This record gives sequence, C-alpha cells and structure tokens, in this order.
Amino acid sequence: MTKRFPTPKGRLTAGRSLAELTWLRVGGPADWLFQPADVEDLATFLRELDPAVAVFSMGVGSNLIVRDGGLSAVVIRMGRGFNAITVEGNRVTAGAAALDAHVARRAAEAGVDLTFLRTIPGAVGGAVRMNAGCYGSYVADHFVEAQAVTRAGEVVTLDADDLNFRYRQTDLPEGCVITQATFEGVSGDPEELAARMDAQLKKRDETQPTKDRTAGSTFRNPAGFSSTGRADDAHDLKAWKVIDDAGMRGATLGGAQMSPMHSNFLVNTGGATAADLEGLGEEVRKKVFQHSGIELVWEIMRVGKPAPE
Ligand SMILES: Cc1cc2nc3c(=O)[nH]c(=O)nc-3n(C[C@H](O)[C@H](O)[C@H](O)COP(=O)(O)OP(=O)(O)OC[C@H]3O[C@@H](n4cnc5c(N)ncnc54)[C@H](O)[C@@H]3O)c2cc1C
Repeated sequence: MTKRFPTPKGRLTAGRSLAELTWLRVGGPADWLFQPADVEDLATFLRELDPAVAVFSMGVGSNLIVRDGGLSAVVIRMGRGFNAITVEGNRVTAGAAALDAHVARRAAEAGVDLTFLRTIPGAVGGAVRMNAGCYGSYVADHFVEAQAVTRAGEVVTLDADDLNFRYRQTDLPEGCVITQATFEGVSGDPEELAARMDAQLKKRDETQPTKDRTAGSTFRNPAGFSSTGRADDAHDLKAWKVIDDAGMRGATLGGAQMSPMHSNFLVNTGGATAADLEGLGEEVRKKVFQHSGIELVWEIMRVGKPAPE
C-alpha cells in the first residue's frame, strides 16, 4: 500500500475521520488525508501518485455531505501554506485555504469591494469551484484567474473559459486542485464596505440558522440556472418557497431536519447520520416533485459511500 504513496513534505494521514472537518459533522473516514506544505509539494505528490488512486479536494466542508462509509480517495485539504492574501490595485489574490470572510475583510481594508464573500463560510478553493455568491454577486462576476494543480501534477493557470461558471457550478477537471485565485472588485470606501458587511452579517443571522450544523442552501434555486453564471442573469424562483409549498418546512428524519427558520437549510440537530441527511433531502425532492413537478437539484455536494449494511 505505502509503495503507491510518495513521501511528501506535508502531512499524510491514513483513515482520517472527515466528520469533524465538515460543517454538518457527519461522515466516515478518508482512506488518506493529505495536507500539502506548499504548491510544489502538492504537484510532486500528485505527479508521483499512482494515477489509479482517486483524489478529492476539500475546503472547510461547508457545502459537503460525506457519506457514512467514508471516501476511498486521497482527500486533499490545504492549510497554512495556502492562505496568503495580497492586494494589488483592485485585484486581490488569495490562497485556496484563505477563508472567504478574511478575503472580504482584507479587500475592504484596502478599499476593494468583495463584500459578497463576507458571509460565505467557505474557503477560496470551494468558492471558485461552487461559483459561490450572495447579495447579488457571484464569484464569476469578480473572477480574474486561478492557479491549480492537475491530477497529473502540472501547475496550470485557469481562466473563466476553462471553468465555464454556471449557477453554483463550474467545469473543474476531475482531480484538479485549485491552489489560489485572483478576484477584482470595484473601489469603495473602507468604512462603508465594513458597514455593509456588518449589515449583511446581521441580516444573515436574522434569516438563516447560522449557528446550527448545516451546509447552507441544500438545493439550487429551481429557475436560477443563469447561462453565464453571473448574478445579473439569475431567475427568481426560490427553493425554500417550493419546499414550503410542499409542506416540508421542519420535516425530520432521524437527527436530520429541514430548518423551521429557513426551509432550504438541512440541519443536523445532534445525532444525524449522513444517511439521515441525504434521505431527508431525497424525501423533500420527492414531495416537491409530487406537489409542483419541479425537480430540485442538490447544491450540497454528496461524496463517498454509504455505511456497509
Ligand atoms: C451557514 C452557511 C451559509 C452559506 N451561504 C452560502 C451563500 O450565501 N452562498 C453560497 O454560494 N454558498 C453558501 N454556503 C455554501 C458554502 O459555504 C459554499 O459553497 C462554499 O463556497 C464552500 O466552500 P468550502 O471551502 O467549504 O468547500 P467544501 O464544502 O469543502 O467543498 C465544496 C466543493 O468544492 C470543492 N473544492 C473545495 N476546495 C477545492 C479546491 N481547493 N480545489 C478544487 N475543488 C475544491 C470540493 O471538492 C467540493 O466539490 C453556505 C454554507 C453554510 C454552512
């Protein structure tokens, strides 16, 4: 087994539980967890890794259900070597592990408006992969380029065409790991930007279960398939509304619940398994389809295998 694995500078751990690395706090272990020291370490590791071994990148797990049987893959999670943030004019470059909130704050201090990132609880790699967004702005509206390491261990630069941004999705090639991204924002007054971010945080806390174990919006907004991936193209039909109409606000399965506060948020109320959460999500999809004919599409990424029988 170990013969298939290169010896990296960073940390490689066998059988690492992923539950405590995700917001929902569920899921089995990864065969291996790799925390690369820097880009070169990651590139060398992927170059030398048996091409038959699957690779999965994770950020801070704020959009993930890892199934109870875990992930047969090398899970790559970036840390300290990947969280630098630099500002040059109106462009902000951040490592994949930099938290969206830190990027927004650092940009605002420099008079650059990336305030939309402030309330998204993920890191930069996940934000690019998911075309994250809120309050009328998506990553696609601000994206300049990203650095990534391919599964074959090549360091490449990706532009917007490579990623083909769409509503909450991109075309990142299988096994490709984003290591850094550059965004551009318009100029703004630092104090005004800070005040806007405070207001957004307050609004969030009033309307979403931000203190609970969730992964944000469970399903994409049904008509929100903007063709360009930019916010100004998106439609208005909301997932929470069709879930409400189907009578599923507050519905439960085991330890999983559709939040009474925001019906598109799936909550681990304590002892939920990944199977409870996914099962409840599928029940919601079924009820919504029966009620309105709308097929909800998962926004939460679900990965790994179910627990053995
Ligand atoms: C309370 C709450 C509120 C939220 N609000 C919003 C919101 O307003 N708008 C919004 O868009 N999202 C929202 N989310 C969802 C989530 O925060 C975003 O999707 C976020 O961008 C995910 O980032 P992450 O680092 O947690 O990625 P993860 O959840 O770890 O991973 C998500 C996906 O990105 C991939 N990925 C992660 N890092 C990399 C990388 N370095 N290279 C390649 N692929 C990678 C993973 O493979 C996976 O497919 C919310 C979540 C919560 C819990």
